[in-house]
Amino acid sequence: MMRYWGILVAKLAGTGLVLATAWMGLHAVWPLPETARRFNLQPFGTDLGYTMAILGLWLLAVGLVYLVALDQRYRCRTCGRRLHMPVSSGAWNSLLLRSPRTDYICRYGHGTLRVSDVELVGMSQTDWHGVDDMWKELEDLEMMDK
Ligand SMILES: [Zn+2]
Repeated sequence: MMRYWGILVAKLAGTGLVLATAWMGLHAVWPLPETARRFNLQPFGTDLGYTMAILGLWLLAVGLVYLVALDQRYRCRTCGRRLHMPVSSGAWNSLLLRSPRTDYICRYGHGTLRVSDVELVGMSQTDWHGVDDMWKELEDLEMMDK
């Protein structure tokens, strides 16, 4: 679980680094407009080009944070690896009883993630089911057979 949150923190730190670099690069190359210099104005809101550049930077920031969150959603909660093997189930003609969903699994057997394919009220909550120790469970089943 610590690894899962560590990956999130690392990705957010990387995003922050990229955005800080873009911010400093923008201010290094962007000349302060004549009116802002003469009347001691902030260029944001008074200079259209600068304001548009900040808008672009803002959109980049929102997009990167969205991608970080989207990537984090499909990671194993135990080992932090990307989840694999999507399996669709449910039926579109029976939304209330067998709502369509996709199940993902950690290839190291740490658990499964259920993601609903129906988004009626925004992004749905994911449903993570951790497995304590699947090898121990299998051994117990084998012991019961004997
Ligand atoms: Zn895992």
